[in-house]
Amino acid sequence: MAEAIPVRDYDVVVVGSGAGGLTAAIVAAQQGLATLVAEKTEYFGGTSAISGGGLWIPGNDHMAGLGLSDSREDAIRYLSAITGNYFDQPKAEAFVRAGPEMVRYLEDRTEVRFMGGLIPDYEAALPGASTGRTLLTQSFDGKALGPDFEHLRPALDQLGVFGGMQIGFEDAGHFMAVLRSPKSFFYSAGKFLRYAWDRIRYGRATRLVNGNALVARLLLSARRAGVELWRETGVAGLINESGRIAGVRLTRGGETIEVRARRAVILASGGYGANQHMRRENMPMADAGWSLQPTGNCGDGIRLGEREGGVFIRENIDNGIWAPMSSMLDADGRRVIFSHIMLDRHRPGFIVVDGTGKRFVNEGASYQAFCKAMHARGIERAWLIGTHAAIRKHSMGLAKAAPLPIGRYLANGYLKKADTITALADVLGLPAATLTATVGTFNHYADSGVDADFHRGEDVYSSVQGDPANKPNPSLGPLRDGPFYAIELRPGELSSLNGLETDARAQVIRQDGSVIDGLYAVGVDANPAFRGAYPGGGASLGPTMTFAYLAARHIAAQHPVDAAAGAAAPLRERPAA
Ligand SMILES: Cc1cc2nc3c(=O)[nH]c(=O)nc-3n(C[C@H](O)[C@H](O)[C@H](O)COP(=O)(O)OP(=O)(O)OC[C@H]3O[C@@H](n4cnc5c(N)ncnc54)[C@H](O)[C@@H]3O)c2cc1C
Repeated sequence: MAEAIPVRDYDVVVVGSGAGGLTAAIVAAQQGLATLVAEKTEYFGGTSAISGGGLWIPGNDHMAGLGLSDSREDAIRYLSAITGNYFDQPKAEAFVRAGPEMVRYLEDRTEVRFMGGLIPDYEAALPGASTGRTLLTQSFDGKALGPDFEHLRPALDQLGVFGGMQIGFEDAGHFMAVLRSPKSFFYSAGKFLRYAWDRIRYGRATRLVNGNALVARLLLSARRAGVELWRETGVAGLINESGRIAGVRLTRGGETIEVRARRAVILASGGYGANQHMRRENMPMADAGWSLQPTGNCGDGIRLGEREGGVFIRENIDNGIWAPMSSMLDADGRRVIFSHIMLDRHRPGFIVVDGTGKRFVNEGASYQAFCKAMHARGIERAWLIGTHAAIRKHSMGLAKAAPLPIGRYLANGYLKKADTITALADVLGLPAATLTATVGTFNHYADSGVDADFHRGEDVYSSVQGDPANKPNPSLGPLRDGPFYAIELRPGELSSLNGLETDARAQVIRQDGSVIDGLYAVGVDANPAFRGAYPGGGASLGPTMTFAYLAARHIAAQHPVDAAAGAAAPLRERPAA
């Protein structure tokens, strides 16, 4: 007799446990649907767990607390301006309407908590731009997760300090002022002591911040909502019955399991950043830089959707969230990649030059705009250059501000150092005369406060990212006093963005515009509502969680079931085909 294949029934099966998958699962379960999340890797959380945990949500309720206001009309005007010919009105309107609703829903009914911040939109000069649309996630005590804590994808060590102490947006200012302000000293000391104790007791930090806190909060909420969560379980195929997606084929512990999805399958497998072949096909300079996405994110959801007739969109404004990256090999030969999102290149005492020794961009621009300038000019390698004072005050990539030591980064070659700009040009292999002239001109701009070439510090974004104590321009400071340091920057990405075509309810659609019954895609498995434009911090997680919420609401509304019937049907068996 043929070996039996275990079969199990749920209402909804979610492929992937990032912010998209978990949000959809929580909402579906709370609407009374029996819900399974299958996660391929050993950890829950995907890219979301190593992210900044910021969500771009125009009109969010937290803006009022900061004395800010917003309107749907302004948000739509801004999205229309930033996406131009790619403007997708139905999706933009669905997002702007449902974003604040999703946040309210999660804050009212789950463990998810956000906080507002005075973060400007990235293209603040465009009509409808605003400040305060980016929400940040409140820190979270990982111990509340119980046994799930060890299955939460750890945050990236390189974005913290002391090999694993996580630094939230609310902490960064204190850590950098630790030697200058008694308040910051005591704040930082308190956090450090807790971390030291956590390391002894739990082997890792339990105070979670940013995306790690977001996923931990979602994970706990999913458990409480009765979602079933399976790790090390990859979705390898979809079950199509007469044109309707009716379930998935999973691989788990070497076994194949069929799981029926009475209502829908939601693809949330986080795009393809770990698939070099797909990066090459879809992204500029894929071989020059790196993706920070975890190894499990290799395009499975997109391929599964394509096999059922879904359309993988390749033409967008951008197909990734770009960021300049630096990297080094650690003592074990492991490549450590650092994304230069904030703190160094925007701050006084730093400039960036290309291989000819010339500046090419407003260094304080958003990571998206900065890398687009690299792509547009064919710059595969650039140099971030800073003074000793700047690096000790603000940090420079992996080398953190004083009092943390930087000797290790000099020893392994990550940081280059020279006493003069001419000597540094020699070390970097740049034309000394050009680099000296570039720095001379830049110093003149720093003194006057006006960057006549790239207008750094004049736009809202680079001004806010600068150092408010620095005059006359918060972003410009001269590079006069050595020694000087340099780090090589490459164009890389935080996440792939292009994915399957979906409608405003996150249903996957075919080339002819018809819906594939029972199949939804959210997060970066779905093509982005903003077509790769990046309106502000959190422009991936904001729509990811909003369309996940909409997908679950739509599934529940289409197929109302009694909450009491929400438990999974018992395991049954059927003979293999
Ligand atoms: C350092 C960094 C900072 C960032 N900061 C921000 C930010 O602050 N705001 C923002 O908006 N964006 C940010 N991003 C980007 C953002 O994190 C991602 O775009 C987003 O998390 C994608 O979410 P997702 O749910 O689609 O996928 P993910 O969170 O990547 O989750 C997908 C999951 O699916 C699993 N999976 C894959 N294939 C299968 C399969 N076949 N079966 C089962 N499971 C599978 C994966 O293992 C993974 O766990 C950042 C990214 C990085 C790297």
